[in-house]
Amino acid sequence: MTETSRRGLVLVNTGPGKGKTTAALGTALRAAGNGMRVLILQFLKGSWHYGELDAIQALGTALGSAEDPAIVIRQMGRGFVKVGGAETDPEDIRLVEEAWGEAASAILSGEWDLVVLDEINYAIGYKMLDPEKVAEILRQRPEMVNVILTGRNAHPTLVELADTVTEMREVKHAYQKGILAQRGIEF
Ligand code: ATP
Ligand code: MG
Repeated sequence: MTETSRRGLVLVNTGPGKGKTTAALGTALRAAGNGMRVLILQFLKGSWHYGELDAIQALGTALGSAEDPAIVIRQMGRGFVKVGGAETDPEDIRLVEEAWGEAASAILSGEWDLVVLDEINYAIGYKMLDPEKVAEILRQRPEMVNVILTGRNAHPTLVELADTVTEMREVKHAYQKGILAQRGIEF
């Protein structure tokens, strides 16, 4: 059976291959080009400067205005974290919880047509965030709100709940030849 009426979707971009974040950014572009309001929250990426920040800020202002940009991107947390049980710094957990608080209220507010939770799957995988809490908010979200979750090893609860799940498969990656991350392509 097909359903033709408009509704918000939950999408998951996961798997070991490259392209999870960039596919989410591509969808953000598509949404903004259709007049939708887009919020991108990047978990665990605080200390790096990614090229998409500048491009999205410029585009957000051009499509909306400086005061009310059509796309907003925000980095949360402080980048690479020490992970695993007792090794996890409580400060990183606090930052993830703060980021999640902001994400949850953005999703529930209905002010955004698309909310991208970039790398949230890692925060869940590192046991810094409870997948049940995330699932609960996704179930409660306003009907028209779309959410994209990215990162390897998506939690089964969220895979089950999602409407569209894509697993990026690695065929090969330049890194394996010793080619380090390239500005503009990787970050
Ligand atoms: P991208 O941001 O390029 O879409 P991604 O979101 O799929 O990648 P992440 O798991 O978020 O991948 O990894 C972040 C960084 O690691 C990026 O710089 C990405 O290019 C790089 N990367 C992604 N997949 C691989 C891989 N299979 N081997 C080595 N590096 C990778
Ligand atoms: Mg990514």
